[in-house]
Amino acid sequence: MANQEDIFKKVISHAKEYGYIFQSSEIYDGLSAVYDYGQNGAELKKNIREYWWKAMVQLNDNIVGIDAAIFMHPTTWKASGHVDAFNDPLIDNKDSKKRYRADVLVEDHVAKIEAKIDKEVTKAAKRFGDSFDKDQFLSTNQRVLDYQNKATTILKRLGQSLEKEDLADVKALIEELGIVCPVSGSKNWTDVKQFNLMFGTKLGASADTATDLYLRPETAQGIFVNFLNVQKTGRMKIPFGIAQTGKAFRNEIVARQFIFRMREFEQMEMQYFIKPGTQKEWYEAWKEKRMKWHLSLGMGKENYRYHDHEKLAHYADAAADIEFKFPFGFKELEGIHSRTDFDLASHEKYSGKKLQYFDPELNESYVPYVLETSIGLDRMFLAVFSNSLVEEQLENNTSRVVLKLPAVLAPTKVAVLPLLRKDGLPEIAQKLVNELKWNFNVVYDEKDAVGRRYRRQDAVGTPFCVTVDHQTLEDETVTIRHRDSMEQQRIALSEVKGIIAKEVDMKEWLKGI
Ligand code: ATP
Repeated sequence: MANQEDIFKKVISHAKEYGYIFQSSEIYDGLSAVYDYGQNGAELKKNIREYWWKAMVQLNDNIVGIDAAIFMHPTTWKASGHVDAFNDPLIDNKDSKKRYRADVLVEDHVAKIEAKIDKEVTKAAKRFGDSFDKDQFLSTNQRVLDYQNKATTILKRLGQSLEKEDLADVKALIEELGIVCPVSGSKNWTDVKQFNLMFGTKLGASADTATDLYLRPETAQGIFVNFLNVQKTGRMKIPFGIAQTGKAFRNEIVARQFIFRMREFEQMEMQYFIKPGTQKEWYEAWKEKRMKWHLSLGMGKENYRYHDHEKLAHYADAAADIEFKFPFGFKELEGIHSRTDFDLASHEKYSGKKLQYFDPELNESYVPYVLETSIGLDRMFLAVFSNSLVEEQLENNTSRVVLKLPAVLAPTKVAVLPLLRKDGLPEIAQKLVNELKWNFNVVYDEKDAVGRRYRRQDAVGTPFCVTVDHQTLEDETVTIRHRDSMEQQRIALSEVKGIIAKEVDMKEWLKGI
């Protein structure tokens, strides 16, 4: 089996080869951790955004969506705590001169320990065969328990030191664990320092009158500052939510891992305004609700897990991540945060404006508490894309590369292929394309043998191919080929639209939540 690094490299090159993701400004050798979405990537991204928007806004009658500006009044970021506390602990290796996030170095070390647990499980599964009970093995095997214990102890200490801002202890931990620089291999580390992640820019023409601005590092604050506007104009009653998707910018220190950690990225966030004291139940409810959304895409329950935070951000009283199994291991995909009244109360203080809700049932006003769900659109893209890319061995000793995207998200839903470029077949195929394109993205392909055309569509992720052949001339039927099973069925031309529509309909998929 290919190792994780090879699989990840394949994901990156496949994304480029098939028009999903390009390095930004590639002709100038690119810009680090900034990416462009190509013709297929833009479609997949749009579909993921829509899948989220429908689930959050359309299907919840007490959640509405807004689109706030990227630029915000600079005081916003004082109030939100980002000016003072949006820092990452960084550490430099003196030999390689490379800079790392200290917490990520430790987390990567823990991931290696977890990989050892996986190895033990695989070994044992082989040894015990059908009688293997994974849960029992995990809870009783001494070696596994030792690894687990080690991992938990390390993460706990990291969490506590970060919480206390004890950067000296973070360094001590790195030294005790014997973590080496992946580039130089040395343990020659500097002290750990804090580094603010916001990008600054200026508003205004002349240097002396210009105002310092930040590019927003999260979309959430655009929601908080509009809380009363939306509540009043929409006559919203608590509990209610405001959702938003949009760009965010962070000057990430370590921006490796392709679109997992970018400097410009897109978030899909929802802030749910609730009565103080009810945050625990809403926290649990949204954790569960968001997990269901993920599972509705059918990408494998085993690829998700929750991770409860030891270290809480300055605004939170509880936080958990939904982690996904990326090609480089389980990592955060989405965050669920109980933000208390931190943001609204702080904006009240800094703006001098009341940001309260009058509760008609209690006959009193209060600053609502907030439950947030926050997911990176690009990270979700990577989860979907990397999980879908597989290389399959076929019966006739050949293999195929197939991008098994959930059909509901696939950029192109159907390829229409005339078997031959003659006998009137292209005309029928074109006619079908013209009919289908009102409903979905369709491509027409008449080049090369049909088998090669199928492979091309497999690789780009098109869930259906419809082939027009000589029998079509006789009885108005075509074959429809399913990407994942490669099964082919003969159906009436008139049925094509209906069959595909059902398979790619967001409604059908979202019923799962
Ligand atoms: P991390 O610990 O990975 O830096 P975070 O905890 O800072 O992430 P949040 O501030 O909770 O992340 O942001 C919410 C979501 O936004 C994350 O779950 C992730 O999906 C996405 N996200 C955050 N930073 C980036 C980034 N640099 N590139 C792409 N997506 C990001």
